[in-house]
Amino acid sequence: MAGSRAHERVHVRQYERWGPLFLPAYLLSSLAAWLRGRDPYRDNRFERQARERTARTEMNPGFSVNLRAEALMNDAGQSSGLNSRATRSPAR
Ligand SMILES: [Zn+2]
Repeated sequence: MAGSRAHERVHVRQYERWGPLFLPAYLLSSLAAWLRGRDPYRDNRFERQARERTARTEMNPGFSVNLRAEALMNDAGQSSGLNSRATRSPAR
């Protein structure tokens, strides 16, 4: 937990991609690193990816803005989908 918002956002993206598998995959990655005599946190593949993407975000500030816009569009798409389904269904 590096305490940076960009870092946390990478984990959110990872969670969105992996869904319910995220936590087991994260733990397995830590276990694999530990079994290889490496650091279970620093050498965890999700942490490495978060560090790499955070470094890239710092070099390119527009990247985080794009992620935020994308997240907002996803939210809007999901809620409007629910709304249109609700209005189409007959009232009981
Ligand atoms: Zn992290």
